[in-house]
Amino acid sequence: MEKQIKTIGVLTSGGDAPGMNAAVRAVVRTGLHKGFRMIGIQRGYNGLLNGECFEMNLRSVSNIISAGGTILYTARCLEFKTKEGQDRGAAKCRELGIDALVVIGGDGSYRGARELAHRGIPMIGLPGTIDNDLGGTDSTIGYDTALNTIVEAVDKLRDTASSHERLFFVEVMGHTAGYLAMNSAIATGSEAAIIPEMETEVDQLAELINHGFRKSKNSAIVIVAENPKTGGATALAERVKKEFPQYDARVTILGHIQRGGSPTAVDRILASRMGEAAIEAFLDEQRNVMIGIQNGKIVYVPFAKATMHNKGIDRNSLDLVKILSI
Ligand code: ADP
Repeated sequence: MEKQIKTIGVLTSGGDAPGMNAAVRAVVRTGLHKGFRMIGIQRGYNGLLNGECFEMNLRSVSNIISAGGTILYTARCLEFKTKEGQDRGAAKCRELGIDALVVIGGDGSYRGARELAHRGIPMIGLPGTIDNDLGGTDSTIGYDTALNTIVEAVDKLRDTASSHERLFFVEVMGHTAGYLAMNSAIATGSEAAIIPEMETEVDQLAELINHGFRKSKNSAIVIVAENPKTGGATALAERVKKEFPQYDARVTILGHIQRGGSPTAVDRILASRMGEAAIEAFLDEQRNVMIGIQNGKIVYVPFAKATMHNKGIDRNSLDLVKILSI
């Protein structure tokens, strides 16, 4: 029989995302409210293996709802990808008196969480990633903030693009998913979004840009999702420039600014609701699921489904980019 849960640990893992702190706060405060002992584990699975943890009280999470990053720090842990590391992680939970664990992170973190679950530690996941690349949830904690950061940056680039009558390729994050690229393209009125889910034909893209300039547009912005397979914005700009040297094409890679900053109200509310739901899930006898949101309602998503990356991109949204930027 499973041990009764009295003490719950919480950790943040993988890439940081705005709203992780709001999630930690909600997990800790709801847990304490429900009578659990709450333990914060620092530096993800690394900290778990090293026993870097501390007891959290109501005041441990004061004034963090507005802060980006994560007060628990985050890290990547190669050892945790090995069977020995996972065995050691489960043993460490028992040694530290942690009966159950809330993991806030992305798909890699859930692969680790599944391994701990197989070793008898009840696990609940919260989707903390700017990429929105997890299955079974309409959104992830940090996605809305990153989207807004991109929109602010692209609006500024548009000023320069218009003044100099230039073409800009702007590379955004996304980790093999095109959500940030596609929705930032809609929100900024960009001319095109290049996403990993769809093949890109350079001629078609160039024709689209050409068409815009011919119709007296004085600038063009193409949002490109990062993509190690194709080389992202830099490689695409090179290909376009080679075939169409008449363009004054520039590349901007937004990089890590997309991961930081104070979370938007949308992310704070999402993180607060999901954090509460994580504790409720344990009380509801749920085990080894990620908390998701679908049509505004909290849902439980098995880790296997969450890590499948098969949410799919809505083709209509891509068409919308084209139609609205004619
Ligand atoms: P994210 O959670 O944002 O996707 P990573 O992919 O870097 O970030 O994963 C975070 C951590 O989760 C890794 O450093 C590692 O400790 C653990 N992890 C990732 N993949 C696995 C795996 N296949 N098995 C066990 N643990 C994993």
